[in-house]
Amino acid sequence: MERTLIIFKPDCLNQRHVGNVIDRFEQAGFTIVGCKMTRLAPALLRAHYAHVADKPFYPALEAFMASRPVIVMALEGENVVQRVRDLLGPTDSRKAAKGTIRGDFGTDVTINVVHASDSDANARIELARFFAPYELYEVNG
Ligand code: UDP
Ligand code: MG
Repeated sequence: MERTLIIFKPDCLNQRHVGNVIDRFEQAGFTIVGCKMTRLAPALLRAHYAHVADKPFYPALEAFMASRPVIVMALEGENVVQRVRDLLGPTDSRKAAKGTIRGDFGTDVTINVVHASDSDANARIELARFFAPYELYEVNG
């Protein structure tokens, strides 16, 4: 059983799509094993987005992600990392197919509804970055 780190980005909350997105995750059979609302500090964002921190778009990305409190969630399921990425669609919402979360609710390449971990190894690192061990639950069923 695998886990992944989800962030409901500011656009998702502002446009009130959180329920729709959770519904897709639940319909896919995934289990919520952690969830909280939090404001993301610049230092945390720089760590989370270290792979793009030197890109020209990074300041706009950081400002967007810090623009309001967000919801972070841990999801569990078989092959959940790849299956959630498939549900999201590609990074650029404008290139995402209808029926995907980004294709249906996203705006562009920055404002794209949801973050999801891209590998099992990164999921473990990201879950530890956003959740204390006692905030992640062992859930049966
Ligand atoms: N991003 C952006 N411009 C780009 C590429 C990425 O603003 O040209 C933002 C976007 O919000 C994306 C995040 O940086 O979700 C992290 O980029 P990554 O390549 O990891 O995309 P993801 O894994 O989220 O699809
Ligand atoms: Mg990524």
